[in-house]
Amino acid sequence: MSDLTAAESLARSIPKISLHCHFTGSVDARTAVELARRYGVALPDDRGADTLYDHPSYEDLGRFLEVYDIVGSCIRTVDDFRRVSYEVLMEAARHTVLYREMFVSPASHAFADYPTMLEGILLGAADAEADSGIVCRIIPAIHREHSVAEARELVELVVEHRRDEVIGIGLDYEEAAGPPHPFAEVFQFAKRKGLHRTAHSESGPPAHIPVLLDALGCERIDHGYHVIQDQRILERVVAERVPFTCTPVSSDIGRYSGSGDGTHETIRAMVDAGVAVTIDSDDPPMFGTDATNDFRVLHETLGYGADQLLRFTRTALEAAWLDAGDRAALGRRVDALAARLP
Ligand SMILES: [Zn+2]
Repeated sequence: MSDLTAAESLARSIPKISLHCHFTGSVDARTAVELARRYGVALPDDRGADTLYDHPSYEDLGRFLEVYDIVGSCIRTVDDFRRVSYEVLMEAARHTVLYREMFVSPASHAFADYPTMLEGILLGAADAEADSGIVCRIIPAIHREHSVAEARELVELVVEHRRDEVIGIGLDYEEAAGPPHPFAEVFQFAKRKGLHRTAHSESGPPAHIPVLLDALGCERIDHGYHVIQDQRILERVVAERVPFTCTPVSSDIGRYSGSGDGTHETIRAMVDAGVAVTIDSDDPPMFGTDATNDFRVLHETLGYGADQLLRFTRTALEAAWLDAGDRAALGRRVDALAARLP
């Protein structure tokens, strides 16, 4: 531990609640390469584990999603999903993540059906909880570039194979190619079935945010940095305390996504305006980050100390889709660790 800098040590020690992390985007590169070899899947440019997630080569979001889908296609059996789920959650626990609501992109797993992935992920999550204490809940996410019929089919599968651990639905992939409006009916169906709702909004215009809140019934916004470009929408989300799940490192690298080079400053502007901001790491190994690093970056670039870093966690505690008893129990775990911070 002695080689940790003070900033890393502080960032690692902050108890974390993870509301914006993708299962497929969290696969360790060595595991991805091993599974690709097993199934004879060709990796781009024959990359190995050291270069598979070579993020400067992501020229645009499409190029990134290509790698994401290739990795997803290498996870096929219950055992594969169980292994990856265990690995990604144990890695999160090493960064003091206590609780995660994890996105799963069924469309990225071209060679597995929904019951298979669900069974494996939940088995791995149970193993990780037993070994580290991390608690994980699942948010299957709709591929917004695909059809509304496919989205409806996914939500019906989620309802048919209902598990307590599956708490809501998300909407991801490229917003420009999949604006939110067509998914309103599917999201309203999910709401009637008792599922929570959230959606990515990063490259689309700020006007998508009220569509997500009103037509789709979203309770959170993933990314959503463009909210600061529209004063009326900004005032509304502050007044309604709509949580935003921000991911500093992936969005900063993700210049193609429209969030621009200045995401850290954008996050500061959101915080200063009173937006309910939470912090997570999106697709950690794919963007060369981890749960500690995203907090460290905010500490070093914005000067946020333990108080503000903890505030992100307390906002996430409030934004998590937990019942009152579980929220209080998680809050006690956060408090216990907060009391021991340097
Ligand atoms: Zn994301």
